[in-house]
Amino acid sequence: MHMKFVLPSATMLALVLLTELPARAQTQVVAGMAPDHPTVTVTGNNYTPISILRRNMGTPADQLEQFPPHHVIGNIYYVGSKTLSSFLIVTPQGNILINTIFEMNVPTIAKSVAQLGFKFGDTKIILGNHAHGDHMEGDALAKQITGARVIVMAQDVPALAAIKPGGKRHPIDEVITDGDTVMLGGTTLTAHLTAGHTRGCTTWTTTAAENGRNYSVVFGCSLRAPDVITPAIEAEFNHSFQVVRTLPCDVLLGDHPAEYGMVAKFAKLKAGAPNPFIDKAGCTAEADIQEAMFHAILKEQATAGH
Ligand SMILES: [Zn+2]
Repeated sequence: MHMKFVLPSATMLALVLLTELPARAQTQVVAGMAPDHPTVTVTGNNYTPISILRRNMGTPADQLEQFPPHHVIGNIYYVGSKTLSSFLIVTPQGNILINTIFEMNVPTIAKSVAQLGFKFGDTKIILGNHAHGDHMEGDALAKQITGARVIVMAQDVPALAAIKPGGKRHPIDEVITDGDTVMLGGTTLTAHLTAGHTRGCTTWTTTAAENGRNYSVVFGCSLRAPDVITPAIEAEFNHSFQVVRTLPCDVLLGDHPAEYGMVAKFAKLKAGAPNPFIDKAGCTAEADIQEAMFHAILKEQATAGH
């Protein structure tokens, strides 16, 4: 079958970027104003809501461009773009894909899988970190190509149902809840509900074996707060920061490469050298930034009398 993938127009890409922007930032971008606050300083670096968003998303070209597919640890591989993560977990009974990202990225993910020597058609299970288009829009197309089962967190079901690229219904084969596990070919992934960014934001954990040792791997969900934090979202984040800080972790990954310093770590990959992705000390770095921003936004809201 001949399949044609049409690249979206610049306008569509701009819209796509705006869907990730907080409502206040959208207004500012649209109006061309730029009060971007608050600013937080974490380990000597300054962050604002917009700077974090830019760090995560890069340019529309970055979101599309293939990042060199590479081995992360054990049976885990990176198959995403420059700024949108997608991970392949290889087992003897087929593979698990975490984050199909935008639908337009799916052909590139398939290409990355092939370049690593695996078959995209061997994908048996599709998981995601959270119900935003830049992480899970590709589920329908990836399922169409591979026949994989799509397993989703209950609290993200309503948001996923609204993600319908080309009018396609978002596939949902199984709904899970906090603490549930997904097993395939000797690999077990545990779903931790770390809500706040979305209602069903899911941090996945597993164990990967390398050089005779087992390592705890955390596929972190975004901890980026919205510009207006309601009491419900505040409660979600308070719980989520506590959860992510107590998960066993040797290797932190994230739904955006910037959340775990992928580019710098990738540059250190060298045969015979220690695996740069094993970084226990770095496991809380992203939570530190996002929690500081979360409290700064809450403080600003309290001051403004919200
Ligand atoms: Zn998101």
